[in-house]
Amino acid sequence: MATRRLYYDDSFQKEFTARVVHCEVLPPDVNSGITGTVWGLILDRTAFYPTSGGQPNDSGKIGDANVLDVREEGDEIIHVVDRRPESPDVNGCIHWPRRFDHMQQHTGQHVLSAMFQERFGRPTVSFHLGAEVCTIDLRGPEPSEEVLEGAERAANQIVFDDRPINIRYDSAEEFSKLGVRKEVKRAGILRAIEIEGVELQPCGGTHVKSTGQIGMALVRRCSKVRQDWRVEFVCGGRAEKAARHDFQLLRQAAEKLSCAQEDVASAASRALAERDANFKNLRAMLGRLARAEAALALQSAPPGPDGLRIVSRVFEGVPSEYPGFFATELAKSEKTVALLSAKEQGHLLFAQHPSSGKDMNALLKHVFEKFNGKGGGTRDFARGKLSDPAHADGALAFAREQLFRA
Ligand SMILES: [Zn+2]
Repeated sequence: MATRRLYYDDSFQKEFTARVVHCEVLPPDVNSGITGTVWGLILDRTAFYPTSGGQPNDSGKIGDANVLDVREEGDEIIHVVDRRPESPDVNGCIHWPRRFDHMQQHTGQHVLSAMFQERFGRPTVSFHLGAEVCTIDLRGPEPSEEVLEGAERAANQIVFDDRPINIRYDSAEEFSKLGVRKEVKRAGILRAIEIEGVELQPCGGTHVKSTGQIGMALVRRCSKVRQDWRVEFVCGGRAEKAARHDFQLLRQAAEKLSCAQEDVASAASRALAERDANFKNLRAMLGRLARAEAALALQSAPPGPDGLRIVSRVFEGVPSEYPGFFATELAKSEKTVALLSAKEQGHLLFAQHPSSGKDMNALLKHVFEKFNGKGGGTRDFARGKLSDPAHADGALAFAREQLFRA
């Protein structure tokens, strides 16, 4: 038996009485996230909206039972509830804040889509009402900032006009005479939603009474999804929340940058330019320091009997790129090998002047046979990381021994 949909004629009906037509324990459904025993309840009439047409289901109560989900199966509406009703006559009550939010988003979508179509010739190919944001997918070329803003402004003008929204029933034939764009597959009497002077559209969803109740439409991001353009938007209470959130972010950013809110973008650009300049300076200074330290290190590392100089050093509390600078400087001197580590991170870095005749990559691999770690490189330059940074000293001592042995 078809469930009578009370929301078809009055989407502002929050409470209703109904008779239980059917009730059965539903098999467990892992995908729904609902655990425990649940019942599928069919009533002779309901104000509960089932998930359909891009709009999520209502929640609320039927008697003492919580309505966890509402599904549409053919002409019937199944209420998924967490307990079985004791009497065949029940009272239903929908959770109004959730429903009204859905009505604001859904009706707002009608208006936004109509404006994208009417003003810019961009048809909506799909709609999704999410927990945070709503999206419509537009077909056609990438909507410019002008198109996005233009549709938003036009939609809000219709909100300000507070135009009536009517529900109309008629045959597909009659509707097409009235200029209903959408192809209608269903025969018989259809339900359509009419936003005065905006559009007439077959729709089984729930809508506010007049466009003023949409409150406000805010278009957010736009990104490419397959061949279409996904436009995010929020309406009503969500737009208020989004504006408040944006303002808080702006205020926090201005505080961090010690500037007026209007100057956030330019202050951020300045801070980034400063950061880049500081980074460049730092690298130049590290290079100079490494040159000086390498000269000192070479003086205090006399060549061995084979003429080879080995500089081995464990760094602590230096920028992570510094050992690289130091190694590069040392490896400029003939017959010199640098065995370096950065203690905090357990980085190892082996480098040599080609005339030294050793193999840094093989040496590193050898070290990692004894001490766990990962890395690699070339004959003259190899780097890696010890699994346990505490082995930094031991690893360098071991590498040094290997060089003498070879
Ligand atoms: Zn609708």
